[in-house]
Amino acid sequence: MSSPRAPLYEILSSLEDHYGPPQRLLVTDPFHLVLLENVGYLVDDSRREAAFEALRQRIGLEPEAILAAAPDTLISIARLGGIFAELRAERLKKSAEIALTEFDGDLACIQELGFAGAKKALTRFPDIGESGAERILLVSRIYPSLALDSNGLRVLVRLGYAAEDNNYSRMYREAQRETSGEVGEEFDLRIAAYQLLRRHGQELCKRRNPRCGECPLSTLCPSAGY
Ligand code: SF4
Repeated sequence: MSSPRAPLYEILSSLEDHYGPPQRLLVTDPFHLVLLENVGYLVDDSRREAAFEALRQRIGLEPEAILAAAPDTLISIARLGGIFAELRAERLKKSAEIALTEFDGDLACIQELGFAGAKKALTRFPDIGESGAERILLVSRIYPSLALDSNGLRVLVRLGYAAEDNNYSRMYREAQRETSGEVGEEFDLRIAAYQLLRRHGQELCKRRNPRCGECPLSTLCPSAGY
């Protein structure tokens, strides 16, 4: 990794000046975050949240309620969150089953497993990989890992914190390694970093055609203008 790069505190401070302080996250329970992940696929946040709200209102978020739900109702809710609704309805049921049978209906207990154990426990759920598990641990304030989503990772790669790599996991680990010493371990700081980098990747530093001309980081960014 050889690109020059700006300090992360300067990047985050510029992003916060531009976007304002990150909003309080509405979903913070670890099981609810698993459901939020599975209720939508390849849709924006507002559509995913609408599907999640429909799940909350029409069925409930307790594992017992989801297991007892009529398949057609679950499918119609999953359809609000995009394609592959049948598959995702099954995943919601499977998530409820795992929560009940392996965690007695309450994922708070994973706190006692340590970071590696808690992460492994979360990857038991459908569609939760290592980085997804780390995000859930961060947002639910169980472990302050410096978690990133694909938007935040893309921003850090362009800013010189990791080399572009076809191996997503290797690229993710490099970005984490290179940034972790630059953000304190407090939950508030790390959640804010996760949210600001994510928002920047969604709004300006998009995968295709990043809007460098409007970017508050353009003077700090080795990739500006590409
Ligand atoms: S200058 Fe362009 S590539 Fe760099 S962070 Fe901003 S939008 Fe992304």
